[in-house]
Amino acid sequence: YEQNMSHSVILVTGGSGLVGKAIEWVIENDPSDRYGKRDGEKWIFLTSKDGDLRDREATKAIFNKYKPTHVIHLAALVGGLFKNMKYKLDFLRENLLINDNVLHTAYEYKVKKVVSCLSTCVFPDKTSYPIDETMVHNGPPHESNFGYAHAKRMIDVQNKAYHEQYGCHFTSVIPTNVFGPYDNYSLEDSHVLPGLTHKCYLAKKNSTPFVVSGTGKPLRQFIYSRDLAKLFIWTLREYQEIDPIILSVGEKDEVSIKDVADAIVKAVGFTGHYSFDTTRADGQFKKTASNEKLMRLLPDFEFTPFDVAIQESVNWFLENYNTVRK
Ligand code: NDP
Repeated sequence: YEQNMSHSVILVTGGSGLVGKAIEWVIENDPSDRYGKRDGEKWIFLTSKDGDLRDREATKAIFNKYKPTHVIHLAALVGGLFKNMKYKLDFLRENLLINDNVLHTAYEYKVKKVVSCLSTCVFPDKTSYPIDETMVHNGPPHESNFGYAHAKRMIDVQNKAYHEQYGCHFTSVIPTNVFGPYDNYSLEDSHVLPGLTHKCYLAKKNSTPFVVSGTGKPLRQFIYSRDLAKLFIWTLREYQEIDPIILSVGEKDEVSIKDVADAIVKAVGFTGHYSFDTTRADGQFKKTASNEKLMRLLPDFEFTPFDVAIQESVNWFLENYNTVRK
């Protein structure tokens, strides 16, 4: 079964971010019918300038203007560890407001399907590995970002409630760490991969050492934004469940922070002194997630090899250095 998507209007909230820009790229550039734009589809990519989704009336005005039949909901207050620790209430409240406005307005406008975005930080802090989709609500999330994590968990609760009371087809996906063009390259408040990319670039430019915070040993799963974009499009068109699905590379493709730094050094072409500052905190050692459900439903999906994805991302960063978020 596939959604009948002819004459559909697909509204993407958060369309100007890392994930939204990748979906736009795949829709416009992928030659295949599975992921590329199909006849009869109209895609709308929103930014915060189209309206503040924390505001109910602004949200209604957007839905009234575009009359979407489908929604990919990405917009969120997002940030690195430091910002999450400092502004827990803002992360909780702003994301609750955004999600409630988007989901309730989608219900009011009889949207056929909504795919919202969770994150692996929704998972319990104390858990067994690998983590899977059934474990979202099994125990408190990590203390450092409980505001953001609880707001994201509520999306899954809301989806079930809209489904059970009104029969809405609202679902969600759980990506692991995302990277790619249009990332946030801030040196203070970014995710590890774009942060290290920027740091390595500056070390090369200024002929200074490249120092990576921590031991380099923690393990993470990274997904290239353009692979994630394809999987979002597949989810919108083909995934039938209300329960979330983890969108990630497999457990065997988990890499260490040192592997990430090595790949960045290679892609940037940095040949200077490179070391790890082991006095700096490492964060959680691992949060390995299972992509078994995805592989069961879409066994032929091919992820871009990590080195290739890093090189494409670094090239994009270098070509757009003057205008990137940093
Ligand atoms: P970005 O920070 O790159 O983009 C955020 C987007 O949300 C932007 O388009 C921004 O608009 C929009 N936005 C933020 N606040 C509002 C608001 N009040 N009203 C309207 N629009 C708003 O985020 P990502 O692309 O990285 O993340 C997209 C989704 O993926 C989020 O839900 C995030 O939680 C999730 N995610 C991200 C991961 C990652 O590693 N990056 C990992 C797992 C999940 P504008 O550009 O105008 O500010």
